[in-house]
Amino acid sequence: MECKIAVISGDGIGPEIVREAKKVLDVVAEKYGHTFNYTDVLMGGASIDVHGVPLTDEAIETAKASDAVLMGSIGGDAKTSPWYKLTPDKRPEAGLLKIRKALNLFANLRPAYLYDELRAACPLRDDIIGDGFDMMIMRELTGGLYFGERKTENIDGVMTAVDTLTYNENEIRRIAKRGFDIAMKRRKKVTSVDKANVLDSSRLWRKVVEEVAKDYPEVTLEHMLVDNCAMQLVKDPAQFDVILTENMFGDILSDEASMVTGSIGMLSSASLNDTKFGLYEPSHGSAPDIAGQDKANPIATILSAAMMLRFTFDLDKEADAVEAAVRQVLKDGYRTGDIMSDGCTLVGTVKMGDLIAERIQ
Ligand code: NAD
Repeated sequence: MECKIAVISGDGIGPEIVREAKKVLDVVAEKYGHTFNYTDVLMGGASIDVHGVPLTDEAIETAKASDAVLMGSIGGDAKTSPWYKLTPDKRPEAGLLKIRKALNLFANLRPAYLYDELRAACPLRDDIIGDGFDMMIMRELTGGLYFGERKTENIDGVMTAVDTLTYNENEIRRIAKRGFDIAMKRRKKVTSVDKANVLDSSRLWRKVVEEVAKDYPEVTLEHMLVDNCAMQLVKDPAQFDVILTENMFGDILSDEASMVTGSIGMLSSASLNDTKFGLYEPSHGSAPDIAGQDKANPIATILSAAMMLRFTFDLDKEADAVEAAVRQVLKDGYRTGDIMSDGCTLVGTVKMGDLIAERIQ
């Protein structure tokens, strides 16, 4: 198979972790007879330095002409970086919002999986962890409160701010379908999270999700209020398979779910549109505090590349091989600093990439 991949290395640790993901992909290509053609695309601070803006129209066109985008992370230290002296629409993060909108990436997937070898990093009690957990947070990414009309005005001498939360049934239907499709590839359970006891947008969400569920009789659907979900994630995370939710609830719950795994350097993500196209990136940021020191954990980016193999290219066997190689490296006791524990061998970014690449079967 021949695949066109746009690569956004980004800022901070971005170039270091993306280099390791490409190393692993190149071994997959060699072993399984594929060709991965990479085109570099500038975004974030790296683009500001060259073009004065965090994302150019040409960069968007290059991404659109590719099958998928593999990304490191963007942004710098907000206190010291000159990028943050620019107006908000010119800062690195503006590039991220722009590319999501331009590529219509409405479905964000974040797995939260507890590796047995990393149980010690999980902040939950052992009896709550039980046999571990494996869930996928499916968050709507281009609608809702973050994209609604907003204004701040003085009304009769009182400063008043308004944000608007809007969803139409089409936006809900397309993300719900994606959620059920993913559940079919997993343990066939969807927990749809809303605030239907208060919000109209949530009541519509619930109605449309129920309609979509009729086309997936094998999938069990349950509804959960967002406040209860926040509690259940730390009380009994194993009950969840796919959590399907809107933009702001998903923003908060996906961070909570990732923290219960305890290791930010391990968490991958995918943002998809309604074709096979996707943007794949680690859930963490550009970690400027450790950039250029060979300290970054490249596993989240390597696992994001595995998601790309699975969801854009339908290369399930190859994705399994990458995930198995990551598990084997952890079993063999190798750790980067962020996941280090007693009795393990500390390695840097490059060595971790080498060890995973060597274990691709
Ligand atoms: P961060 O995720 O970059 O770092 C938080 C902490 O986790 C730091 O101590 C860092 O060293 C550590 N860390 C993160 N990734 C790691 C890894 N792979 N290996 C080892 N340790 C790791 O969050 P932050 O410090 O709040 O943000 C830094 C910059 O990243 C900011 O400019 C922010 O806007 C940006 N950011 C970008 C994205 C993105 O590109 N999608 C996401 C979040 C934050």
